[in-house]
Order: sequence, then C-alpha cells, then structure tokens
Amino acid sequence: MALVPMRQLLEEAEKGKYAVGAYNVNNMEQIQAIMAAARETQSPVIIQASRGALKYSNFTYLKHLMLAAVEENPNIPIAMHLDHGNSLETCKEAISLCFTSVMIDGSLKEDSKTPTTFEENLEVTTSVIEYARPLGVTVEAELGTLGGIEDGVGSGHINLTDPDQAVEFVGKTKVDALAIAIGTSHGAYKFKKEPKLALDLVKEIHSRIPDTALVMHGSSSVPQELAASINKYGGNMPNARGVPMSAIQSVIPYGVDKVNIDTDGRIAITGAIRKVFVETPEKFDPRDYLGPAREALTVLVAQKMRDLGTAGHAGDFEPKSLDDMIEYYKANGLL
Ligand SMILES: [Zn+2]
Repeated sequence: MALVPMRQLLEEAEKGKYAVGAYNVNNMEQIQAIMAAARETQSPVIIQASRGALKYSNFTYLKHLMLAAVEENPNIPIAMHLDHGNSLETCKEAISLCFTSVMIDGSLKEDSKTPTTFEENLEVTTSVIEYARPLGVTVEAELGTLGGIEDGVGSGHINLTDPDQAVEFVGKTKVDALAIAIGTSHGAYKFKKEPKLALDLVKEIHSRIPDTALVMHGSSSVPQELAASINKYGGNMPNARGVPMSAIQSVIPYGVDKVNIDTDGRIAITGAIRKVFVETPEKFDPRDYLGPAREALTVLVAQKMRDLGTAGHAGDFEPKSLDDMIEYYKANGLL
C-alpha cells in the first residue's frame, strides 16, 4: 500500500530538486491515465479532486477509484489530495474518506469567490490544521489570489502573495504547503500574451520560509498543438494560452514542490474525443472515444512528469503512513 501523506512527497521533491505534479480527476479514465503515466515514468504522484469533481462524481465513487489506483500500483507513492477545500467541513469529509492531504483555500470565502481578509484566512486555516495534523494529514493553504476562474473557484483577480504576510502566516499556522500567487492563473484563457512569473518574489518567499513547500496553481501550459487539434475538429478555443513549461521549470529550484495541472488534461481529452467523432461519425460505443482520450491523457501526463523532473523518483524512499507522519510531526515540534 503506497498511499502516503502529501508532505512526504513534497519533502522528497525538495530534496531531489524536482516538483510533483498534482493532477485533477473526476472519472475512471483520468485516474487510469495518470497512473499509467506514473508507472511508465516511475513517478510519485498526487491525485487531486476539487469540490466540483467530488460533487460531479460523488465522494464515495472517487474515493474507491483512487483506492483502486493505490491497490493496482503498490510501487508508486500516491497522495490523495482535496483541491480548493472551502471549509473545515469539506476538509473533514475528505479526511473521513481517507484523503491523505487537504487544501483549505482560505484566500476566498466559503463561496469560493469573495476574497477574505488575512485574519479570516488565518482563522480557517488554523482550524483545519488543528483537525488534520493529529491525524497525520497534510494541509495546503493559499495566500494571495490567482487570476482566472476554474470549477467555480476564483475571484478573477490576481493579487500577488505578500512575502511579509507569508512569513507571518506560516509562523502562526505551521502549514505544510503554501499555494502562492506569482502571476499564474486558473483556466485555459490565462493571458493575452506570454506571461512573466514573478521569479524574484518566489526566491524571496522561499528564502524566508525555506521549510514550507510552495505550490503553483493555474500552471497548465495549454499546449498549442492540443488546442489546435480541438479547433481542427470543430471545437472553439481561440487564443487559449497558458504558462510555458520553461517558466514553471525556472521556479522549481526555489521551493516550488507541487505543480497543479488540470486544464491541460481537459484539453487533451476533449481533442482526442473530437477527433474520433469527426473522423468516425458512425461510432457510438463510449469506449471508442474514452479509450483514445485516456491514451491522450497518458501521453500528456507522462511528458509533464518528465518535464517537472518527477520521473524516476518513485522508488527513492520508503513510503510513510499517516501514523509515521504523526510521529514525525511530534518529533519536529509541529504537534
Ligand atoms: Zn487552484
């Protein structure tokens, strides 16, 4: 059983100077594709589900799909993570379904749209850590707001993370991982022109809170050939643009241990399905298009794993259990 607390994956990534991709899922084919890519490249992996995904698929179905991935892949360390939890209640529910990691996005109110004050963020994040830590479960928080809106999450405005606030926030909460706003954005229409990430800001934040794993959200690259394939087969995604992989790679050495990928997977899947529909309109068995969609996602994720440097690291360490993590927190004065 290689279901591990996310903190272990992030610490190993920091040591190895790579980042672990966190891939969003809401159905079986996506989970299978991600695991096929992880096996092919021998990568540790974070499988994450947003609240929207949990609502769509139902918590229980997703739990068992994730556990099937764990059972089928005993040699791949896997963390099950809740993406953009909006309240202590949602985090508790995920933990009760054996998620080993939760994000509490206290940068936004429970409606996942309205920005909170720093104090409100501190308060809700602290409440989740007080609940999760004695159970060995990892907690990711967010400070600053990204642009864009995805899965109904986001204020739509970019508000870069303030380094002074990051120091105070981590000092008070002792959170495991912190999502920072450094110029990325959720969704497929992130930017009008090539974006510039705030590299100096990442460096400053990392130098001041070196023991906290930093997380990049909104990091899909929107590969132009995939967007073009959607448009070629009758889709309509003009001017979709993301964060170039080279920009992501430039921040990985400065404490960025987790990189969230959602949009790119959606685009790969949709392009593959559109191709089948256009080229073979007589087909009507869902396997005829969900199969190619799964293959397209596998190719995409395997490439991400190589690009992020995750490939080859699945066997680097002995997987920790949540009980091991509780002992670790105690030994390090975090519990
Ligand atoms: Zn996000």
